[in-house]
Amino acid sequence: MATLNYQAPTTVQDAVRLLAGAGGIAKVLAGGTDLLVQLRSGRVKPDLIIDTKKIPGLIGIREVDGGFVIGAATPGAAIGECEPLVKAWPGVVEAATLIGSTQVQGRASLAGNLCNASPAADSVPALIAAKAICVIVGPKGRREAPVESIIIGPGRTSLERDEIVTEFHLPKRPPRSADAYLRFIPRTEMDIAVVGAGISVTLDAGGVCRDARVALGAVAPTPLLVPEAAGALIGRKLDQTALDALDAAARKACKPIDDKRGTIDYRIKVAGVLARRAAAIAFERAGDGR
Ligand SMILES: Cc1cc2nc3c(=O)[nH]c(=O)nc-3n(C[C@H](O)[C@H](O)[C@H](O)COP(=O)(O)OP(=O)(O)OC[C@H]3O[C@@H](n4cnc5c(N)ncnc54)[C@H](O)[C@@H]3O)c2cc1C
Repeated sequence: MATLNYQAPTTVQDAVRLLAGAGGIAKVLAGGTDLLVQLRSGRVKPDLIIDTKKIPGLIGIREVDGGFVIGAATPGAAIGECEPLVKAWPGVVEAATLIGSTQVQGRASLAGNLCNASPAADSVPALIAAKAICVIVGPKGRREAPVESIIIGPGRTSLERDEIVTEFHLPKRPPRSADAYLRFIPRTEMDIAVVGAGISVTLDAGGVCRDARVALGAVAPTPLLVPEAAGALIGRKLDQTALDALDAAARKACKPIDDKRGTIDYRIKVAGVLARRAAAIAFERAGDGR
């Protein structure tokens, strides 16, 4: 039986060097709530595991220029306890903190959720709606990429095999801005989203939407940014016309699968309903003068 090598580097450069120099299969470890399950079930058989949690900056949240930098391996529990982040990005926080259970929350990270590349990953639509950027480091240096460019298919990312995500950047918010994330699951918790909807809006003083981003999860092979759905909101108050247009645009973007959690028709219908409800929450929060 091949031995599994575990390394816990203390710099990003060492982590990248280990990844780049690995002969067999190397896997990056954050919280392990996906990776260890896959390891135990035999779905992945890495030769090397590179734990990122000892690298300074990979865990923690900083406010920079009015925005936020979230370390890639920061667990959901820490994200939920960061009051300024909850105030600025309540949707991102609610998406991150509904992953799993209290135990899972102590470990599960945004980078793990993104790089596991499930179409149903909960934090991803919220991050996409938030226009989050991830910082990626590899042997060629540092680059930045929008979150929506990372997942390219179920279980597949656009990262090179020797690249790691180090942090997520959330931009500074204009006044009267807010976001929301909603998912539908058949049970009350510990289940995979049938549909997830993340919406971020900025309103003017009269309550008219000046900017919006809408993202959907679990309705296509990758989480979707849906500009047509955002277009249904921009320039309008959240009246029936806007809600109907949002619902229609969200439904039109869906290319879901049929499975035991929901049929294609069901998922498409739920996507429209969740988009409406998430928009209502985001508008209400933004109108509260955030
Ligand atoms: C009981 C249970 C319930 C769950 N419930 C939910 C849920 O409700 N919603 C949901 O979306 N998910 C859920 N999950 C899945 C999982 O908890 C999440 O996807 C979590 O965010 C993964 O984060 P992690 O830090 O544990 O990732 P890990 O398991 O450490 O890593 C996951 C993948 O990402 C890669 N990776 C990790 N960090 C990096 C990095 N910095 N750069 C590049 N690649 C990296 C790893 O190599 C691996 O392929 C659940 C899992 C369990 C076991």
